[in-house]
Amino acid sequence: MCGECCKNILFSNECGYVKDDETFKEMQKKHLIYRFFSKNGIVQNEGEELEGAILFKCRFLKNNRCSIYFIRPIFCRDYPSINKKFIQMGGTTLDNCGFRFEPDKKFIEYLK
Ligand code: SF4
Repeated sequence: MCGECCKNILFSNECGYVKDDETFKEMQKKHLIYRFFSKNGIVQNEGEELEGAILFKCRFLKNNRCSIYFIRPIFCRDYPSINKKFIQMGGTTLDNCGFRFEPDKKFIEYLK
């Protein structure tokens, strides 16, 4: 367990990626789950859309391990969720992640 997915988290709302503290404070007021997270850095040199986005880390990550593993939230249990939307939107796991997405068979084979 590397813990990378618990400390390099981007959040977004209807306006795009969270890039300022006020926006995140508002999200924390509306949804308690956001109180799990604190600021861990700022995205730089990743293109206009991501530039300045805040990276968050989970407060429950201790020594790269989840300190509430057995009662962790559902989205942590599901990660990396293998659903169509995730893949269709180009979702990927981090380079050093132990999870991999691979198609059952190549696209061309479905056409035969
Ligand atoms: S609750 Fe645990 S698994 Fe979920 S983000 Fe926090 S440290 Fe990671």
